[in-house]
Amino acid sequence: MLRHFSRSLRFQFLIALSGVLLLALCSLGAMSKWIIFPALHKEERGIISQELKRVERSLALAQQELLAQARDWANWDDTYEFVQGNYSRYREVNFSPEMMQEMRYQLIAFFDASGDIYFLSGLAPDTGEYTTCTRTLGNCAWMSPYIDSIQLSLEDSSDQQRYLFPGASSPAMVAVTPIVRTDGSGPSVGWLAKVRLMNEEWIAQMEAVTGLPITIEQLPSSQIEPMTTIEGDTIYAQHLLPTNVPAINISIGTQLNRTHYLASLDTIRYVLIWTACLMLFVIGFVLWLMERIILRPLKALSVFARQASGEDTRLDSALLCQRSDEIGILARSFEQQLTRQRELNAELLNLSTHDALTGLPNRRLFDQELQAAIHETEARSQPLAVMMLDIDHFKLFNDHYGHQKGDECLQQVALALQNVAASHNFLIARTGGEEFSALLPNISANTAKQIGYQLHRTVDQLKLPHKASPVAPHVTISVGIGSLDDSSDISPTALMSTADQALYRAKAAGRHQVMVFTPPTSSASAYTHDTPL
Ligand code: GH3
Ligand code: MG
Ligand code: MG
Repeated sequence: MLRHFSRSLRFQFLIALSGVLLLALCSLGAMSKWIIFPALHKEERGIISQELKRVERSLALAQQELLAQARDWANWDDTYEFVQGNYSRYREVNFSPEMMQEMRYQLIAFFDASGDIYFLSGLAPDTGEYTTCTRTLGNCAWMSPYIDSIQLSLEDSSDQQRYLFPGASSPAMVAVTPIVRTDGSGPSVGWLAKVRLMNEEWIAQMEAVTGLPITIEQLPSSQIEPMTTIEGDTIYAQHLLPTNVPAINISIGTQLNRTHYLASLDTIRYVLIWTACLMLFVIGFVLWLMERIILRPLKALSVFARQASGEDTRLDSALLCQRSDEIGILARSFEQQLTRQRELNAELLNLSTHDALTGLPNRRLFDQELQAAIHETEARSQPLAVMMLDIDHFKLFNDHYGHQKGDECLQQVALALQNVAASHNFLIARTGGEEFSALLPNISANTAKQIGYQLHRTVDQLKLPHKASPVAPHVTISVGIGSLDDSSDISPTALMSTADQALYRAKAAGRHQVMVFTPPTSSASAYTHDTPL
């Protein structure tokens, strides 16, 4: 059953379409994995890196702003005079804790032309205490790392600079610029440095400007963090900025909610699932159509073909033959072929079991029927008679009238014999050239004898001229009758031999007579002899 199914068209269609479905799903999956999802991911990374650049630009702007403020002060003539010790009220006029707080300066430092500290003003990072001094001692000790670092850069270059500086709690940005006259004349008489902490307050202001969440961290430069990381629904991007301390970097970063990306992902997943479902449905529908349009009629056709030799095929074929499609054409041509084949088979069967000249059954059919009749006889304990009939002196007939006339004679004799056989419902066959055999089931030897006489008479009554016959002026036959009573157990050959022997005796006794074989009680009385009526 399973083997049969595995070879069926339905199975092959199922396999082929499942293959197509699998291939389509695989390509869909591959497309999502290697094209669609990476594209979405790239887009998301593109967005976060743009946002990060905005943050970086804002940071650069903040540094430029600090530098501009430093330059503003450094280019005053008042400052120029102050650093040279010519303007004693400069401090009182320009410095106050309020100014420092309002401008969010952590520290403002003045250096003389040789880079030594001239004046320092700052807000202590821990206490917020406002201090001014000329050395990094006492209350101004916290300024020491900033000042040392700034002084180092003063030695390196006299250009205006801006850079980042790692701090104890939060990093700071620093702007240093040379002090010159307002009109730019005269040599530089020192440097002015402004330091602004990048603390939470500063970050909050940056966030307000950019509209983005910002994180600032100080990291050891050995720590190389990935530029973009994803945690759940949030994507983080950060950029490392060098500080004046080579061992420490500042990372500035921002984050983005991935709702857009996740929503796109959901939409694509939804589309993919629906596409897969649609494919499944289409393939199921195609299978159903195939089943309905092709497979079912084909199955009916194959049933029709299998039952072709049976009797009920007309009913099946009628439905199939009414179809106007290719299957209908196939069924009609198949039916025509079948009809033709049946006719040919019947013709072949007829040819193989009947004699071509007379149309009577031939020896083959006679032998088959004889075998069956003997079995039937033995099974039902019925009598059975057989006859052998031979035209007398037929060779002389041929010699005298020619072979053609001989054939016609044979046909007429056969027809006459067949008419008698038909009226008594027994089989008569042409079993030799001018020799016939009759099979009479359920007929006693006595009745057979009467029939034998009737056959004998019938041929006489044809009055077919036979001038060459020494027996009569017309064609005559000799008949030998053999029989089998219900108690006998005899073979077909032996039974026919009894009829043959009786015929032989009829011939030997002068021809044109009927002779019955009876089981020998003695050899002399084995045959009964009667003269024709
Ligand atoms: P008997 O009375 O002893 O039977 O003599 P017979 O001549 O009939 O027998 P024999 O066996 O000597 O000859 C049979 C003849 O039948 C010989 C043959 O030419 C003829 N014959 C056999 N078959 C055909 C046939 O199909 N057509 C024709 N025209 N003649 C046939
Ligand atoms: Mg003969
Ligand atoms: Mg003969």
